[in-house]
Amino acid sequence: MEARSIRLLTSAATILYEMASRGCGIGPDTLQCAGMQVSESIQCPFCGQGFELVIDTSVPTQQFTTDCEICCRPFEVVAECKPGEILSLDVRGS
Ligand SMILES: [Zn+2]
Repeated sequence: MEARSIRLLTSAATILYEMASRGCGIGPDTLQCAGMQVSESIQCPFCGQGFELVIDTSVPTQQFTTDCEICCRPFEVVAECKPGEILSLDVRGS
């Protein structure tokens, strides 16, 4: 009985952790999480090809590396967001 409770608690904690790591808050806003994904057109700093990138706008400031879909070279993306909207988006070739 006790072992079972501990296991349930552990799986609940894992789910909460996974939600947090996806940038979702825990609470009433969690259900709106899907609306936080906004796609934005960006241009590869290497080959100049434009393509769509999906940004999670629930994270106010984010910086990550992504690969160009066309030439596959990695570049850095710096985004500033407010929930549901991208305020600025910068790409930097590294
Ligand atoms: Zn490219």
